Amino acid sequence: MTQEEYARLETTYGTNNYKPFDVVIARGKGVWVWDTDGNRYLDCVSAYGAVNHGHCHPKIHKAFVEQADKVSIVSRAFRTDQAGPLYKELCDLTGSRRAILMNSGVEAVETALKAVRKWGYQKKKIPEGKAEIIVCSGNFHGRTIAVIGFSSVEKYRQGFGPFPGGFKVVPYGDVKALKEAITPATAGFLVEPIQGEGGMNVPPDGFLREAAKLCAASNVCLLLDEIQTGLGRTGKLLAEEHDAVKADAVILGKSLGGGFLPVSAVLARGEILDVFGPGDHGSTFGANPLACAVGRAALKVLVEEELVANAARMGAHLKKEIEGLSSPIVKRVKGRGMMLGIEIVPDAPSAEELCTRLIREGLLCNTAGSGIVRLTPPIVMDDEEAGWALERIQKVFKA
Ligand SMILES: *Cc1c(COP(=O)(O)O)cnc(C)c1O
Repeated sequence: MTQEEYARLETTYGTNNYKPFDVVIARGKGVWVWDTDGNRYLDCVSAYGAVNHGHCHPKIHKAFVEQADKVSIVSRAFRTDQAGPLYKELCDLTGSRRAILMNSGVEAVETALKAVRKWGYQKKKIPEGKAEIIVCSGNFHGRTIAVIGFSSVEKYRQGFGPFPGGFKVVPYGDVKALKEAITPATAGFLVEPIQGEGGMNVPPDGFLREAAKLCAASNVCLLLDEIQTGLGRTGKLLAEEHDAVKADAVILGKSLGGGFLPVSAVLARGEILDVFGPGDHGSTFGANPLACAVGRAALKVLVEEELVANAARMGAHLKKEIEGLSSPIVKRVKGRGMMLGIEIVPDAPSAEELCTRLIREGLLCNTAGSGIVRLTPPIVMDDEEAGWALERIQKVFKA
């Protein structure tokens, strides 16, 4: 079939809740993917960070196949020889005390929200039904009804109400507004250390540190959504380290699945996850042994191949080189580590149009927020691959 025919099948029989570029990918390896006609592209989206390790990483692939040969899914009525080790490895790596495993990112967000509400009632003694959770404008935490209910993007909400209550929105990066929003009924503050979908927004210096102090002083749990920023993407294992913060709970997803499977987790430092008892919460596929084996391999590769340090070095290099182009259409390069966004000046070709041009040159990218070209390549990227990408970027942004 031609790429047009594949696209037509998708638009005819699938649901058009996305508007993808018409590149039909058939294969991937490392930072590269190939379309059905055999054209090669460098993947600078990497599934929004789900492919930090690159496509089809050989060690993760090996773990995947070996576990698939043994057992993949076991009912949560029984234990497995993969879940316990992954819980421990996650906790050891991140300095957490307890973990819970889910599948998609938003499921882990919902898990954190349920845990912090229950914590609020049990431990903070908030009157039943009154717990509040504070979130930020420009947030992206996924697509369930509760989570879109506190989105500030109207399109995400339009037509999907009514929404659950108990959420307050404050401006991102504004400690004063956070302080004013906290009441005795506030159980948690949910925030992304850097907003990805919102447009690669890095908050003002010290925001997270001040927010963490404020939360600690007010007995409010700080919940960091590190689904996109976590596991090396920003040049630190967790983005909270940039502000020397230790959140009460950290939410991981995307790259925890090593580019193979959806694997998400909530990792808690304090007493938060202790509120769950048998039957309180769950997921059929959460912590399945195949996902756990893949998650374990993903963590092992991250450490063994020193991917966090690579992301820090390579991200700084990419940022410097793109800034160095002094392109008249680039307003600035946003982001941190390998979570970058090129902000386009008004009156220039749109970010969508620039993505189309980059894709034509063999560089897969897409937009974030508005007017921003997202650059989030796999963090395994080496110097030669970065050079290849920069040549294409230069060509498009200098033209
Ligand atoms: C992608 C993302 C999510 C949602 O993850 P899904 O796996 O799509 O449910 C939540 N929060 C952040 C910060 C994300 O980037």
